[in-house]
Amino acid sequence: MHSASIPQLADALSRAQSADDFHAALRQALGVFDQQNASQVEQSGIALVCRAGCSLCCWLRVDVYAPEVFLIADTLRRELPPPELEEMRARLVSHAELVKEMTVREHATRNVPCPLSREGWCSVYAVRPHTCRRHHSQDLAACRFTYEHPEDMEFPGAHDAALFHELTETMGMHAAVYEYLGFDATVYELGSALEEALSDPACWRRWSLKKKAFRRASETPSG
Ligand code: SF4
Repeated sequence: MHSASIPQLADALSRAQSADDFHAALRQALGVFDQQNASQVEQSGIALVCRAGCSLCCWLRVDVYAPEVFLIADTLRRELPPPELEEMRARLVSHAELVKEMTVREHATRNVPCPLSREGWCSVYAVRPHTCRRHHSQDLAACRFTYEHPEDMEFPGAHDAALFHELTETMGMHAAVYEYLGFDATVYELGSALEEALSDPACWRRWSLKKKAFRRASETPSG
């Protein structure tokens, strides 16, 4: 089953004139992505163990595309009172400094907490990126093992393979739409890209002009 979000996303992006239009297009695509996820879980009877307040997967490196970063940045600016926004920015600066010294593998194997996680809760849950929405677990013990042994790359699988594959495919197709339309489809690391988006308005301007959005953020090589 391929997502109905692809033509909708392409159409909405082609017509987008403002940042709000781009954000609305992504929100719609993420909504369809969630529906695809929920309907496959229901049809195949997958028994998920994910529960509100569990954040065992929020210690993994989070890969994102630039529009996801801009949607989160916009939401934080709108929703957080100034002192909390400043606190968040300080946390993001520390995170970015830590991450820039690491290779992708080091980051993936060291339990670096997501700077958006607050006491086990995602502070941007409604606009969290595809990577977080795709994540799911059928096995809490496997999640605990990965958390307790972050350096062990032979960790037991917690995903339903078919669901994970399908969601990964849809996520890739969303990125392909951006790329097809000429937008930057680099895979960035969430925290360091978000820090840059919040501190430098030129990131958004570059992306909207179909240039590379971020200059300092950590990148995940494709393939
Ligand atoms: S964005 Fe939210 S769901 Fe994703 S890793 Fe961070 S805290 Fe967890």
